[in-house]
Amino acid sequence: MSNSKTAFITGITGQDGSYLAEFLLERGYKVIGFGRKSSFVKPNNVSHLAGKIEVAYGDLIDSVSLASAIQRYKPNEVYNLASQSHPGESWNLSLETGEATALGAHRLYDAVRMIKPDCRIYQASSSEMFGDVIETPQTENTPFNPVNPYAAAKVYAHNIAHIYRKSYGLFIACGILFNHESPRRGMHFITQKVTYGAACLKLGIKNSPAYNEEGEPIVKDGKLSLGNLDAKRDWGYAGDYAEAMWLMLQQDKPDDFVIGTGKIRTIRELCQTAFDCVGLEWENYVVVDPRFVRPTETGPTVADASKARMVLGWKPRTTFYDMISIMIDSHLTMLNHSQTKGSQLS
Ligand code: NAP
Repeated sequence: MSNSKTAFITGITGQDGSYLAEFLLERGYKVIGFGRKSSFVKPNNVSHLAGKIEVAYGDLIDSVSLASAIQRYKPNEVYNLASQSHPGESWNLSLETGEATALGAHRLYDAVRMIKPDCRIYQASSSEMFGDVIETPQTENTPFNPVNPYAAAKVYAHNIAHIYRKSYGLFIACGILFNHESPRRGMHFITQKVTYGAACLKLGIKNSPAYNEEGEPIVKDGKLSLGNLDAKRDWGYAGDYAEAMWLMLQQDKPDDFVIGTGKIRTIRELCQTAFDCVGLEWENYVVVDPRFVRPTETGPTVADASKARMVLGWKPRTTFYDMISIMIDSHLTMLNHSQTKGSQLS
Protein backbone atom coordinates (compact mmCIF):
# COMPACT_ATOMS: atom_id res chain seq x y z
CA MET A 1 0.00 0.00 0.00
CA SER A 2 1.39 3.46 -0.76
CA ASN A 3 0.19 6.98 -0.04
CA SER A 4 1.79 10.35 -0.59
CA LYS A 5 2.08 11.29 3.07
CA THR A 6 5.30 11.96 4.93
CA ALA A 7 5.48 11.21 8.66
CA PHE A 8 8.22 12.68 10.83
CA ILE A 9 8.90 10.82 14.08
CA THR A 10 11.05 12.27 16.84
CA GLY A 11 12.41 9.57 19.15
CA ILE A 12 12.09 6.92 16.42
CA THR A 13 14.80 4.75 18.01
CA GLY A 14 12.71 4.43 21.18
CA GLN A 15 10.13 1.77 21.91
CA ASP A 16 7.08 3.62 20.57
CA GLY A 17 8.90 5.20 17.64
CA SER A 18 9.84 1.78 16.31
CA TYR A 19 6.31 0.34 16.50
CA LEU A 20 4.88 3.51 14.97
CA ALA A 21 7.43 3.45 12.12
CA GLU A 22 6.45 -0.15 11.28
CA PHE A 23 2.75 0.78 11.46
CA LEU A 24 3.14 3.79 9.14
CA LEU A 25 5.38 1.98 6.64
CA GLU A 26 2.71 -0.71 6.33
CA ARG A 27 0.28 2.08 5.39
CA GLY A 28 2.55 3.45 2.68
CA TYR A 29 3.93 6.50 4.48
CA LYS A 30 7.35 7.90 3.80
CA VAL A 31 8.87 7.80 7.28
CA ILE A 32 11.54 10.22 8.53
CA GLY A 33 13.19 9.47 11.85
CA PHE A 34 14.57 12.45 13.72
CA GLY A 35 17.11 11.79 16.46
CA ARG A 36 20.57 12.15 17.86
CA LYS A 37 23.41 10.69 15.82
CA SER A 38 24.50 8.70 18.88
CA SER A 39 21.23 6.75 18.88
CA PHE A 40 21.59 5.64 15.25
CA VAL A 41 25.25 4.61 15.22
CA LYS A 42 24.56 1.64 17.51
CA PRO A 43 22.02 -1.18 17.11
CA ASN A 44 18.61 0.25 18.03
CA ASN A 45 14.89 -0.47 17.79
CA VAL A 46 14.71 0.56 14.11
CA SER A 47 17.90 -1.13 12.89
CA HIS A 48 15.71 -3.68 11.08
CA LEU A 49 14.09 -0.81 9.12
CA ALA A 50 17.38 0.40 7.60
CA GLY A 51 16.76 1.38 3.98
CA LYS A 52 13.01 1.75 4.61
CA ILE A 53 13.14 4.92 6.67
CA GLU A 54 15.13 8.13 6.21
CA VAL A 55 17.10 9.56 9.08
CA ALA A 56 17.50 13.23 10.02
CA TYR A 57 20.12 13.85 12.69
CA GLY A 58 19.23 16.42 15.29
CA ASP A 59 18.26 17.08 18.86
CA LEU A 60 15.07 18.48 20.40
CA ILE A 61 17.36 20.71 22.45
CA ASP A 62 18.67 22.31 19.24
CA SER A 63 15.99 24.38 17.50
CA VAL A 64 18.07 24.88 14.34
CA SER A 65 18.45 21.14 13.69
CA LEU A 66 14.72 20.75 14.27
CA ALA A 67 13.65 23.60 12.00
CA SER A 68 16.08 22.48 9.25
CA ALA A 69 14.61 18.99 9.26
CA ILE A 70 11.01 20.27 9.15
CA GLN A 71 12.01 22.65 6.34
CA ARG A 72 13.67 19.84 4.40
CA TYR A 73 10.94 17.21 4.66
CA LYS A 74 7.78 19.36 5.04
CA PRO A 75 5.93 16.49 6.73
CA ASN A 76 2.17 15.97 6.77
CA GLU A 77 2.25 14.38 10.22
CA VAL A 78 4.73 14.85 13.06
CA TYR A 79 4.81 12.42 15.99
CA ASN A 80 6.68 13.90 18.92
CA LEU A 81 7.86 10.87 20.87
CA ALA A 82 11.35 12.06 21.85
CA SER A 83 11.80 12.62 25.54
CA GLN A 84 13.90 11.87 28.56
CA SER A 85 11.20 9.32 29.24
CA HIS A 86 12.09 7.79 32.60
CA PRO A 87 10.11 9.37 35.47
CA GLY A 88 12.34 7.81 38.13
CA GLU A 89 15.51 9.17 36.54
CA SER A 90 14.01 12.62 36.07
CA TRP A 91 15.06 13.64 39.58
CA ASN A 92 18.71 13.08 38.58
CA LEU A 93 18.21 14.59 35.12
CA SER A 94 15.66 17.25 35.96
CA LEU A 95 17.07 20.01 33.75
CA GLU A 96 17.70 17.74 30.78
CA THR A 97 14.15 16.46 31.22
CA GLY A 98 12.82 20.02 31.13
CA GLU A 99 14.95 20.89 28.10
CA ALA A 100 13.98 17.87 25.99
CA THR A 101 10.53 16.93 27.24
CA ALA A 102 9.02 20.38 27.90
CA LEU A 103 10.97 22.92 25.81
CA GLY A 104 11.80 20.36 23.11
CA ALA A 105 8.08 19.92 22.37
CA HIS A 106 7.63 23.69 22.45
CA ARG A 107 10.49 24.16 19.93
CA LEU A 108 8.91 21.56 17.67
CA TYR A 109 5.47 23.21 17.75
CA ASP A 110 7.12 26.53 16.83
CA ALA A 111 9.10 24.99 13.96
CA VAL A 112 5.89 23.51 12.55
CA ARG A 113 3.96 26.75 13.12
CA MET A 114 6.51 28.77 11.17
CA ILE A 115 7.39 26.29 8.41
CA LYS A 116 4.49 23.89 7.80
CA PRO A 117 1.45 25.12 9.77
CA ASP A 118 -0.99 22.65 8.15
CA CYS A 119 1.08 19.71 9.45
CA ARG A 120 -0.68 17.63 12.12
CA ILE A 121 1.21 16.96 15.35
CA TYR A 122 0.87 14.10 17.80
CA GLN A 123 2.20 14.95 21.27
CA ALA A 124 3.15 12.09 23.59
CA SER A 125 1.52 13.14 26.85
CA SER A 126 1.57 10.77 29.79
CA SER A 127 -0.52 9.33 32.62
CA GLU A 128 2.35 10.48 34.88
CA MET A 129 0.77 13.94 34.56
CA PHE A 130 -2.03 12.75 36.92
CA GLY A 131 0.65 12.20 39.58
CA ASP A 132 -0.86 12.15 43.05
CA VAL A 133 -4.20 11.31 41.50
CA ILE A 134 -7.26 13.40 42.21
CA GLU A 135 -9.75 10.81 40.93
CA THR A 136 -9.66 7.19 39.79
CA PRO A 137 -9.94 6.09 37.02
CA GLN A 138 -8.53 9.04 35.08
CA THR A 139 -10.16 10.60 32.02
CA GLU A 140 -9.26 13.48 29.69
CA ASN A 141 -10.92 15.82 32.22
CA THR A 142 -9.09 14.64 35.35
CA PRO A 143 -6.93 17.49 36.72
CA PHE A 144 -3.16 17.02 36.55
CA ASN A 145 -1.16 16.84 39.77
CA PRO A 146 2.44 15.99 38.75
CA VAL A 147 4.86 14.71 41.38
CA ASN A 148 8.13 14.37 39.46
CA PRO A 149 10.14 16.52 37.02
CA TYR A 150 9.21 14.27 34.06
CA ALA A 151 5.50 14.70 34.73
CA ALA A 152 5.87 18.47 35.20
CA ALA A 153 7.68 18.69 31.84
CA LYS A 154 4.93 16.67 30.15
CA VAL A 155 2.25 18.96 31.64
CA TYR A 156 4.11 21.97 30.22
CA ALA A 157 4.26 20.42 26.72
CA HIS A 158 0.58 19.42 26.98
CA ASN A 159 -0.49 22.92 28.05
CA ILE A 160 1.52 24.63 25.29
CA ALA A 161 -0.12 22.24 22.80
CA HIS A 162 -3.54 23.48 23.98
CA ILE A 163 -2.40 27.10 23.80
CA TYR A 164 -1.07 26.65 20.24
CA ARG A 165 -4.28 24.91 19.20
CA LYS A 166 -6.31 27.89 20.40
CA SER A 167 -3.93 30.72 19.51
CA TYR A 168 -2.60 29.56 16.15
CA GLY A 169 -5.11 26.92 15.06
CA LEU A 170 -2.39 24.24 14.99
CA PHE A 171 -3.58 20.64 14.84
CA ILE A 172 -1.90 19.14 17.91
CA ALA A 173 -3.49 15.99 19.31
CA CYS A 174 -2.35 14.84 22.76
CA GLY A 175 -2.37 11.15 23.60
CA ILE A 176 -2.40 10.69 27.38
CA LEU A 177 -0.90 7.23 27.30
CA PHE A 178 -0.75 4.96 30.32
CA ASN A 179 2.23 2.64 30.75
CA HIS A 180 2.90 0.41 27.77
CA GLU A 181 5.62 -2.16 27.55
CA SER A 182 7.35 -4.57 25.19
CA PRO A 183 10.73 -6.22 24.58
CA ARG A 184 11.80 -2.83 23.12
CA ARG A 185 11.25 -0.93 26.39
CA GLY A 186 14.33 0.60 28.06
CA MET A 187 15.95 -1.80 30.54
CA HIS A 188 15.52 0.55 33.52
CA PHE A 189 11.73 0.31 33.43
CA ILE A 190 10.13 -1.95 35.99
CA THR A 191 8.48 -4.42 33.57
CA GLN A 192 11.80 -4.99 31.82
CA LYS A 193 13.68 -5.43 35.09
CA VAL A 194 11.16 -7.96 36.35
CA THR A 195 10.86 -9.99 33.12
CA TYR A 196 14.62 -9.88 32.55
CA GLY A 197 15.24 -10.87 36.18
CA ALA A 198 12.83 -13.79 35.93
CA ALA A 199 14.49 -14.96 32.68
CA CYS A 200 18.01 -14.73 34.19
CA LEU A 201 16.99 -16.63 37.31
CA LYS A 202 15.25 -19.30 35.22
CA LEU A 203 18.56 -19.82 33.39
CA GLY A 204 20.49 -19.92 36.68
CA ILE A 205 22.27 -16.60 36.00
CA LYS A 206 23.11 -15.17 39.42
CA ASN A 207 24.82 -11.96 38.23
CA SER A 208 23.22 -10.56 35.09
CA PRO A 209 25.12 -8.97 32.21
CA ALA A 210 22.67 -6.01 32.15
CA TYR A 211 23.03 -3.30 34.79
CA ASN A 212 20.48 -1.23 36.70
CA GLU A 213 20.43 2.55 37.21
CA GLU A 214 22.63 2.17 40.32
CA GLY A 215 25.37 0.59 38.18
CA GLU A 216 24.90 -2.91 39.58
CA PRO A 217 23.80 -6.11 37.83
CA ILE A 218 19.98 -6.17 37.62
CA VAL A 219 20.18 -9.66 39.15
CA LYS A 220 22.92 -9.59 41.78
CA ASP A 221 23.90 -12.64 43.82
CA GLY A 222 20.69 -14.34 42.69
CA LYS A 223 18.40 -11.50 43.87
CA LEU A 224 16.37 -8.91 41.97
CA SER A 225 16.19 -5.55 43.79
CA LEU A 226 13.09 -3.40 43.27
CA GLY A 227 11.42 -0.35 44.85
CA ASN A 228 7.84 0.00 46.08
CA LEU A 229 6.03 -3.29 45.39
CA ASP A 230 2.66 -1.71 46.17
CA ALA A 231 2.87 0.90 43.40
CA LYS A 232 -0.05 0.42 41.01
CA ARG A 233 -0.11 0.90 37.25
CA ASP A 234 -2.20 0.28 34.16
CA TRP A 235 0.15 -1.68 31.85
CA GLY A 236 -0.66 -2.29 28.18
CA TYR A 237 1.30 -3.68 25.23
CA ALA A 238 3.19 -1.02 23.21
CA GLY A 239 2.49 -2.80 19.92
CA ASP A 240 -1.21 -1.94 20.39
CA TYR A 241 -0.66 1.77 21.10
CA ALA A 242 0.87 3.01 17.80
CA GLU A 243 -2.51 2.69 16.09
CA ALA A 244 -4.09 5.00 18.68
CA MET A 245 -1.49 7.72 17.93
CA TRP A 246 -2.18 7.50 14.23
CA LEU A 247 -5.97 7.47 14.67
CA MET A 248 -5.75 10.74 16.66
CA LEU A 249 -4.24 12.47 13.62
CA GLN A 250 -6.96 11.16 11.27
CA GLN A 251 -9.77 12.99 13.15
CA ASP A 252 -11.49 16.17 11.96
CA LYS A 253 -10.17 18.21 14.87
CA PRO A 254 -7.30 17.95 17.36
CA ASP A 255 -8.26 16.57 20.75
CA ASP A 256 -6.94 14.76 23.83
CA PHE A 257 -7.38 11.03 24.35
CA VAL A 258 -6.64 8.79 27.32
CA ILE A 259 -5.18 5.46 26.14
CA GLY A 260 -4.86 2.49 28.51
CA THR A 261 -6.30 -0.90 29.39
CA GLY A 262 -8.47 0.14 32.36
CA LYS A 263 -6.92 -2.67 34.44
CA ILE A 264 -4.80 -1.88 37.46
CA ARG A 265 -2.06 -4.09 38.93
CA THR A 266 0.60 -3.78 41.61
CA ILE A 267 4.30 -4.41 41.04
CA ARG A 268 3.82 -7.42 43.35
CA GLU A 269 1.30 -8.85 40.83
CA LEU A 270 3.71 -8.08 37.99
CA CYS A 271 6.42 -10.09 39.80
CA GLN A 272 4.04 -12.95 40.46
CA THR A 273 2.94 -13.16 36.80
CA ALA A 274 6.50 -12.99 35.46
CA PHE A 275 7.93 -15.58 37.85
CA ASP A 276 4.87 -17.85 37.32
CA CYS A 277 5.69 -17.74 33.59
CA VAL A 278 9.11 -19.29 34.28
CA GLY A 279 7.88 -21.62 37.05
CA LEU A 280 9.63 -19.88 39.98
CA GLU A 281 8.35 -18.42 43.30
CA TRP A 282 8.93 -14.67 43.10
CA GLU A 283 9.17 -14.24 46.90
CA ASN A 284 12.39 -16.31 46.86
CA TYR A 285 14.17 -13.84 44.56
CA VAL A 286 12.71 -10.32 44.81
CA VAL A 287 14.03 -7.96 47.51
CA VAL A 288 13.01 -4.36 48.26
CA ASP A 289 15.84 -1.85 48.05
CA PRO A 290 15.08 1.70 49.31
CA ARG A 291 17.33 3.14 46.58
CA PHE A 292 14.68 2.22 44.02
CA VAL A 293 11.78 3.78 45.92
CA ARG A 294 10.76 7.08 44.29
CA PRO A 295 10.83 10.17 46.55
CA THR A 296 7.15 10.69 45.70
CA GLU A 297 4.95 8.05 44.14
CA THR A 298 2.56 8.46 41.22
CA GLY A 299 -0.81 6.78 41.24
CA PRO A 300 -2.80 4.70 41.40
CA THR A 301 -3.06 5.42 37.68
CA VAL A 302 -5.72 3.57 35.70
CA ALA A 303 -7.27 4.68 32.45
CA ASP A 304 -10.87 5.31 31.58
CA ALA A 305 -10.32 5.08 27.81
CA SER A 306 -14.01 5.13 26.87
CA LYS A 307 -13.62 8.29 24.76
CA ALA A 308 -10.90 6.60 22.65
CA ARG A 309 -13.10 3.54 22.28
CA MET A 310 -16.10 5.61 21.16
CA VAL A 311 -14.41 8.26 18.98
CA LEU A 312 -11.35 6.41 17.64
CA GLY A 313 -12.70 2.88 17.80
CA TRP A 314 -9.48 1.92 19.60
CA LYS A 315 -9.11 -0.81 22.21
CA PRO A 316 -6.14 -2.83 23.50
CA ARG A 317 -5.72 -6.32 22.00
CA THR A 318 -2.91 -7.99 23.94
CA THR A 319 -3.53 -9.33 27.46
CA PHE A 320 -1.21 -8.60 30.37
CA TYR A 321 -0.19 -12.25 30.61
CA ASP A 322 0.59 -12.44 26.88
CA MET A 323 2.64 -9.24 27.06
CA ILE A 324 4.71 -10.57 30.00
CA SER A 325 5.22 -13.88 28.16
CA ILE A 326 6.41 -12.05 25.02
CA MET A 327 8.91 -10.05 27.09
CA ILE A 328 10.22 -13.10 28.94
CA ASP A 329 10.57 -15.12 25.73
CA SER A 330 12.56 -12.28 24.21
CA HIS A 331 14.94 -12.15 27.20
CA LEU A 332 15.32 -15.95 27.25
CA THR A 333 16.18 -15.95 23.54
CA MET A 334 18.76 -13.20 23.92
CA LEU A 335 20.33 -14.62 27.08
CA ASN A 336 20.52 -18.13 25.55
CA HIS A 337 22.04 -16.64 22.41
CA SER A 338 24.73 -14.73 24.31
CA GLN A 339 25.49 -17.75 26.50
CA THR A 340 25.95 -19.93 23.38
CA LYS A 341 28.10 -17.26 21.74
CA GLY A 342 30.17 -16.94 24.93
CA SER A 343 30.77 -20.69 25.14
CA GLN A 344 31.72 -20.82 21.45
CA LEU A 345 34.27 -18.06 21.97
CA SER A 346 35.81 -19.60 25.11
P1 NAP B 1 11.90 5.75 24.85
O1 NAP B 1 11.96 4.32 24.44
O2 NAP B 1 12.66 6.18 26.05
O3 NAP B 1 12.34 6.64 23.61
C1 NAP B 1 12.64 7.99 23.75
C2 NAP B 1 13.29 8.46 22.48
O4 NAP B 1 13.56 9.86 22.61
C3 NAP B 1 14.62 7.79 22.14
O5 NAP B 1 14.68 7.55 20.76
C4 NAP B 1 15.64 8.87 22.52
O6 NAP B 1 16.82 8.77 21.76
C5 NAP B 1 14.88 10.11 22.13
N1 NAP B 1 15.39 11.35 22.72
C6 NAP B 1 15.60 11.61 24.03
N2 NAP B 1 16.06 12.87 24.17
C7 NAP B 1 16.13 13.40 22.93
C8 NAP B 1 16.53 14.66 22.42
N3 NAP B 1 16.95 15.63 23.22
N4 NAP B 1 16.47 14.88 21.07
C9 NAP B 1 16.06 13.90 20.23
N5 NAP B 1 15.68 12.68 20.66
C10 NAP B 1 15.72 12.43 21.99
O7 NAP B 1 10.37 6.19 25.11
P2 NAP B 1 9.03 5.44 24.64
O8 NAP B 1 8.64 4.45 25.68
O9 NAP B 1 9.16 5.03 23.24
O10 NAP B 1 7.99 6.62 24.77
C11 NAP B 1 7.73 7.49 23.68
C12 NAP B 1 7.16 8.79 24.22
O11 NAP B 1 5.93 8.52 24.90
C13 NAP B 1 8.06 9.51 25.21
O12 NAP B 1 7.86 10.90 25.04
C14 NAP B 1 7.49 9.08 26.55
O13 NAP B 1 7.77 10.04 27.55
C15 NAP B 1 6.01 9.00 26.24
N6 NAP B 1 5.25 8.07 27.04
C16 NAP B 1 5.65 6.78 27.15
C17 NAP B 1 4.90 5.89 27.90
C18 NAP B 1 5.31 4.45 28.02
O14 NAP B 1 4.75 3.76 28.88
N7 NAP B 1 6.21 3.95 27.21
C19 NAP B 1 3.71 6.34 28.52
C20 NAP B 1 3.32 7.65 28.35
C21 NAP B 1 4.09 8.52 27.59
P3 NAP B 1 18.31 8.56 22.39
O15 NAP B 1 18.71 7.18 21.97
O16 NAP B 1 19.11 9.60 21.70
O17 NAP B 1 18.21 8.76 23.86
